[in-house]
Amino acid sequence: MKYIFVTGGVVSSLGKGLAAASLGTLLEQRGLKVVLQKFDPYLNVDPGTMNPFQHGEVYVLDDGAETDLDLGHYERFTNCVLTRSNSTSSGQVYETVLARERRGDYLGNTVQVIPHVTDEIKGRIRTLAKEQPCDVLITEIGGTTGDIEGLPFLEAIRQFVLEAGSGNVVVMHVTLVPYIKAAGELKTKPSQQSIAKLREIGLHPQVLVCRTEHPLEEDVRNKLSMFCNVPLEAVIEARDVDHSIYEMPLMLQREKLDQIVCDLLHLNVPKADMREWTRFVKRVVQPKKRVKIAVVGKYIELQDAYKSIYESLTHAAAANDCGIDLVRVDAEELENQDPSEALHDVAGVLVPGGFGERGVEGKISATKFARESEVPFLGLCLGMQVATIEFARNVCGLEDANSAEFDPQGKHCVIHLLEEQKGVTDKGASMRLGTWPTLIKKGTLAAKVYGTSKIRERHRHRYEFNQSYREQMEEKGFVIAGTSPDGQLVELIELQNHPYFIACQYHPEFQSKPNHPHPLFTGFIKACLQNC
Ligand code: GLN
Repeated sequence: MKYIFVTGGVVSSLGKGLAAASLGTLLEQRGLKVVLQKFDPYLNVDPGTMNPFQHGEVYVLDDGAETDLDLGHYERFTNCVLTRSNSTSSGQVYETVLARERRGDYLGNTVQVIPHVTDEIKGRIRTLAKEQPCDVLITEIGGTTGDIEGLPFLEAIRQFVLEAGSGNVVVMHVTLVPYIKAAGELKTKPSQQSIAKLREIGLHPQVLVCRTEHPLEEDVRNKLSMFCNVPLEAVIEARDVDHSIYEMPLMLQREKLDQIVCDLLHLNVPKADMREWTRFVKRVVQPKKRVKIAVVGKYIELQDAYKSIYESLTHAAAANDCGIDLVRVDAEELENQDPSEALHDVAGVLVPGGFGERGVEGKISATKFARESEVPFLGLCLGMQVATIEFARNVCGLEDANSAEFDPQGKHCVIHLLEEQKGVTDKGASMRLGTWPTLIKKGTLAAKVYGTSKIRERHRHRYEFNQSYREQMEEKGFVIAGTSPDGQLVELIELQNHPYFIACQYHPEFQSKPNHPHPLFTGFIKACLQNC
C-alpha cells in the first residue's frame, strides 16, 4: 500500500481538501483503489457540536459519524464510502489515550505526546489501511503548518514516513503564492517559510501545490523549487478555478500532478481517463439554460454552511443540462417581509436543515408561498418539519401548530421529540444519526422520482413528525410518502395538487455525486425548469 500525506501552509481555506480529493479522482481514474482520510487538529471530539459560523457544514457518514465537510469532497470526488475511521480529531486521539491511561494500560509509565499520542495517530492510519484496503491512502492534515495543535500529527507522519520507507510515501504541501499588487509580483517567501517549518519538524515535501491567482512563471517556479527543495516539475500550479471546483482535477492533471505522484510511488498505471468527468464539467460551466433557485436559510452568508446542498444542486442542474442562479434568502429577514418580494421570480424554493428557532418563521412563510403559488419545493430535515408546521397551521387550521423544539409546551406539537431522544442529555453524537431505510408508498411522486420503493438515506435529527396528527393532515391533502420500515417514523412527505412539493426528514444532499445526482434534487430541478 502507498501513502500520500497532504499538509497545508501559509493560510487556511486553501482548498487542501479539494486538492486531496482531486488527486483522489485522478488516481482512481488511473484504475487505482483510493481511500481518503482526514486528521483534524482541534480538540473537539467531532464537529457535531460546532456552530456553522465556526466550522461550516457538518457532513454525516453512513455509520452516523459527524465529520468535517472535506469528507463530503472526498465522497463526491471519488467512489470511496467513508466511515468514522476516515475522520480523526485530536479530541478523539486524546480521548482514546486518556481512557487507556485510566484503564491502567500504561501503568508505571509517564504518558507523553511522543510516543503515546503519536503512536495512536499512526495506529489510526494502520487501522484504516486494514479496514479499507486500497492501493493509495491519502491523508489530509487539517489546519496550517505551524499550528501548535497540529504538531503531534506532523511528528506522527514524520515517524510514519521513516517506517514506510522511500517509494511508499509522498508528502504533498499545499501552499499559497500571493500576488502583491504594488510590486506586480507573485511572492514565494511565505511558502519558503512554511516549508522551512516542515523541514524543522523533519518532513520534506516532495510535491508543492501552489494556490495562486496568476500563472506561475518559470522564474517563480525555479525559485520555489530551489528554496523549497522540491524538483522543478513537482512545483504544481493550482490557479483559482474560473467556474467550478470540479475543474480542479483537470487542472492538476494538466500540471501532471498524478504522473509525478505515481512516479514517486513507483506506480506503473495507465493515464487517468477523465472523459466522463470532462463532460460533467462542461455541462456545469457551459449550461444551455439557467434556473433561479432560492435557498432559504439562516447561514446563507456563509460559503460552507450548506455546502453539500449547493453541490447537490450543481449535480442535479448538470443532469438537467442547466446552470443554477442561486438566490440566497435570509430566513430571518423574511420574517418581516412579504415572501413574494424575495421569491416572486424564483423557479423553486429549497428549505435546508437547521437547529434552533432563529429564522424558522421566515422559513415557514417561504414554504407557504411555495405551496400556495405552486412553486416547486424541496424541504430537507428541518425543511420537512417546517412544511409540516405550515400545513398544520394554514390548511388544517391548527393556528398554534409548532415543533416541540421551539415551543415545548405548545398545544399542537405536530413535530415532537423522537421517543429514543427522551432523556438524552449529552450533546455529542447523540442525535438519530446515519443511514436508515425508508419505504416509499406506491403511487406517490417520490416513488416516481426515486424509481424504487426502498431507499437508504442519512439522518441527523432529534425531532420527528407527530403521528397523532396524521389522519387530520392526510384528509387535507398532506401525503405521508415514506416511513421507516416499521411505519413508526415519517421520513418523506409530499402534497397533493402541487407540481413538486417534497420534503424529507433525512439529508439526501450527503449522497449526491457529479455523475450520480440525487433523484430528489434532479426531480426538483426538472420541476423548476418546467416552472420557468
Ligand atoms: N432541529 C431539527 C431536529 O433536530 C432538524 C435537524 C436538522 O435539520 N438537521 O430534528
